[in-house]
Amino acid sequence: MIPQIQIQNCVLSRALDLDFDNIPLGKTFTDHMFICSYENGQWQKPKITALAPIATHPAAMAFHYGQAIFEGMKATLNSKGTPLLFRPYKNAKRLNYSARRLGMPEFPEALFVKAIETLVSIDRQWIPSQQGSALYLRPFMYADEAFIGMRAATQYKFIIMASPSNPIYNKRIRLYAETNFIRAARGGTGAAKAAGNYAAAIQPTEAAKARGFDQVLWLDAQDFKAIQEVGTMNIFLKINGVIITPSLDGTILAGITRMSVIEFLRFKGYEVIERRITIDEVIEASIHGDLEEAFGTGTAVGVAIIQSIGYKEQTIEISNENPVGQMVLETLNGVRTGEVPDPLNWMHTVKG
Ligand SMILES: *Cc1c(COP(=O)(O)O)cnc(C)c1O
Repeated sequence: MIPQIQIQNCVLSRALDLDFDNIPLGKTFTDHMFICSYENGQWQKPKITALAPIATHPAAMAFHYGQAIFEGMKATLNSKGTPLLFRPYKNAKRLNYSARRLGMPEFPEALFVKAIETLVSIDRQWIPSQQGSALYLRPFMYADEAFIGMRAATQYKFIIMASPSNPIYNKRIRLYAETNFIRAARGGTGAAKAAGNYAAAIQPTEAAKARGFDQVLWLDAQDFKAIQEVGTMNIFLKINGVIITPSLDGTILAGITRMSVIEFLRFKGYEVIERRITIDEVIEASIHGDLEEAFGTGTAVGVAIIQSIGYKEQTIEISNENPVGQMVLETLNGVRTGEVPDPLNWMHTVKG
C-alpha cells in the first residue's frame, strides 16, 4: 500500500511572474515541495506543502558527517499538455543504491514515484513547454538528527523540490583532463549520487573554468589514465565507427541517460562497447584521425557535444561534425515532448 500524501496547497502561485524564456538557472523554484521525515525506524506521513525554509539544528549530522544524497530528473509536456517523466523508477532505485552506500534508510520506490507525480501535477503550470526546457526535479535525503559522533543517523528528511530550467549548453564544450585531483576511487562513493562527491569536485572544476574550460574530465585514481566521466555527465567517444563508453566499475555514476543512450544506439544498429578506455588511447585515435565524436550525457544537460579535451600541455581537438551526438540529442529532446516516437518506452505519463 502506498501511503496517502497529505496536501497543503499554497494560496497564490508565483508561476505567473516567471518569464519562461529567461529562467534564472538553478534559483527558480516552484510553489510546493514534497517532504517526508524518518524517525523511530520508519518513514512518517508524507506531505506536499508550500516550499519554505526548514529550521535545522546546528548539530544535524548531514552538516558534519555528510550523510546527504540526491537525484536529478525532469518533467516535460507533450503537445496535449500532459506531463511526462523519463524513467522515474530508475531514479527511485538509484536513490536507494546511494542510500545503502551511505548507511541511510531506503525510501519506498512506489512512494517516490507517486510523490514525483503528485508534485508535478500540483505544480504543472511551472513546466516549460519549449523544446529542451523542462521542470527539473531534485529529490534528496539528508540526516537531520542532532548528534555529535560518527555513526548512522536515526533521523532523516526526504524532500523533492522542482525548478524550471531552459537548456544549459547550446554550444560545444571544452574539457580539461585533470591529472592532480580525482573524483572517485574504487571502493569509494563514486557510483552514489552523494553530496560529498561534488564538494570534492568543486575546486578543480573552478580552476578548470578559470583556465577557459567548461568542465573537468575525470581520470582514474591509480594512474590518471582511464577516463571516468565529466562533471555531472557520462562520456561517449566514437572511434573508428564504434561507440565506446567507460564501463561501470564502481567509480562512475550509473547515468540513466547513459543507460538509455546505450540502449537506443544499439536499437539503431550501432556497435556500443562499455570498457576501460584511457586518455592515451584517445590521443592515439586523434593522431590517426579515428576520433570521430565525443559527447557527454546527463539529465541536467541532456547531450553536450565535446569540442576539445585539454590534457597536460596538449589539446585534443574533435571534429565539429557530430552526427551521432546530434541524433541522440534530438531524440532525447523529441521523446521528452512526444514529438518523436518513443520506441523503447521510456516516457511515463503523469495522469490527473
Ligand atoms: C547525475 C550524474 C550523471 C548523469 O546521470 P543521469 O541519470 O543521466 O542524469 C553522471 N555523472 C555524475 C557524476 C552525476 O552526478
